[in-house]
Amino acid sequence: MMLEKRILVVEDEEHIRKFVKINLEREGFIVEEAGTGEEALEIVKKKDIDVVVLDIMLPGIDGYEVCRILRQKHPTIGIIMLTAKSQDIDKIMGLEYGTDDYMVKPFNPMELVLRVKSLLRRMDPLIEESNHIVLDPPFKIDKYSRKFYKEDEEIELTPTEYSIIKLFTENSGKAFSRDEILNIVWGYDFVGDSKIVDVNVRRLRAKLEDDPSEPYYIETVWGIGYRWRDK
Ligand code: CA
Repeated sequence: MMLEKRILVVEDEEHIRKFVKINLEREGFIVEEAGTGEEALEIVKKKDIDVVVLDIMLPGIDGYEVCRILRQKHPTIGIIMLTAKSQDIDKIMGLEYGTDDYMVKPFNPMELVLRVKSLLRRMDPLIEESNHIVLDPPFKIDKYSRKFYKEDEEIELTPTEYSIIKLFTENSGKAFSRDEILNIVWGYDFVGDSKIVDVNVRRLRAKLEDDPSEPYYIETVWGIGYRWRDK
């Protein structure tokens, strides 16, 4: 039996929150609701939340701050931000916040459901894999616990970052286009641009490269995308 997944919807506008909740429940998810960031953080402390759907504009502490706190305390929770058109996607996806995905308001709730499912797929532990530990010196990937190490030091990755690293390390030397990475990691045809791939790679480089300004492990393939350097 599939374990039921628990989604927390954080939005002060009640009609949007209810609308999202109904659509997620229809797909079999357990949905928790919060109208403020403070409330959301309380719920995350008490309940086992898999994915947070987080609006940026909230009374009290805003979605950015909630996201920052969540990433510090619960790096493996999936986060999908709800944004207004005017908000800066680079900032949302950037180093400090590290969200897994975002949706621009107004959005189709079915599209949000698809994104939640896609994110959960990225987060699923690959228990069927017999070889749990992959060595790629100086890195080590534990596919069972989804942990990533450099020189035996754990580097905490978001679910999306982990999926990219897994793709890269399983295909070292292969050049991936941004669109290929989008399709494999996000699992749907992304309608905006492929900037989301670039910001995730930038974040990964900051975490794992010796010198992020001179990346060695994640190479840029000009005009194409990225390549994990060949062993
Ligand atoms: Ca709001």
